[in-house]
Amino acid sequence: MPTPKRLTCQMCRSKEPHEPLTSNEKGWLQRQLGNRIGDDYYKCVNTRPDDKVCLSIRRLSVEKHFRLTKRLPDNPDDLD
Ligand SMILES: [Zn+2]
Repeated sequence: MPTPKRLTCQMCRSKEPHEPLTSNEKGWLQRQLGNRIGDDYYKCVNTRPDDKVCLSIRRLSVEKHFRLTKRLPDNPDDLD
């Protein structure tokens, strides 16, 4: 299983704690992208100055995987 890691974040522009996507989050991203994805997608869990969690998504080996930065929804209910 993937484990939490410190990775660079394109939105925070610094090295921040990242966690692997949950199965709900992974399902949401797969529907967004229209294809299946592996276990190497991580979300930034750094708390931003506005008190929101960053939630920017990246791949383990590729910081700029998405042409534009991509975030998970702030509300977990929006993952469904
Ligand atoms: Zn971030």
